[in-house]
Amino acid sequence: MLTIKDKTFVSFITADAIQARIQSLAEQINQDYANKQPLIVVVLNGAFMFAADLMKHLTIPCEITFIRVASYTATESTGQLKQILGLHQSIEGRDLIVVEDIVDTGLTIGEVCNQLQISSPASIAVATLLFKPAALKKPIDLQYVGFKIENRFVLGYGLDYDGFGRNTKDILVLQ
Ligand code: 5GP
Ligand code: MG
Ligand code: MG
Repeated sequence: MLTIKDKTFVSFITADAIQARIQSLAEQINQDYANKQPLIVVVLNGAFMFAADLMKHLTIPCEITFIRVASYTATESTGQLKQILGLHQSIEGRDLIVVEDIVDTGLTIGEVCNQLQISSPASIAVATLLFKPAALKKPIDLQYVGFKIENRFVLGYGLDYDGFGRNTKDILVLQ
């Protein structure tokens, strides 16, 4: 149990279950990329623990880089846009695996993939630890999904509530 700013969170996915699932995702990636040298693109901050644990089980030659997604309002008519920050290397011709903490509406990962696509990578796959199918607003291809979960607010194992709660081994859910 964890209390942050008067909200109580209880265990939802245990550390053991998370680690077992990550190991099998990594084994799948090792098979799928057997003759490739992918670039792992980690979306900070939420995916940092997932990415670290996933990397430990990858046996293929691979590189890792970290990006952030900044939201800003361009005009009232175009609404919220998302900009990728921190990508300082060429991705042209690379096989990208974008690592996310959670896909909720899908708008963030959709925009990230669209913007990466502009720089002509050879391929883009998405690995997300969590996926809330009920919240999805536009269809998106998710090649590697850790856990499909119901539409509830979760935290821990990298995911935050107002900046706090990233530092747990389990994933917790709002009680
Ligand atoms: P999306 O664009 O798919 O709606 O979600 C983008 C971001 O919202 C995620 O990367 C994550 O930072 C945040 N988010 C969505 N659902 C949750 C949740 O249940 N818990 C936490 N901590 N963050 C969430
Ligand atoms: Mg995220
Ligand atoms: Mg957050």
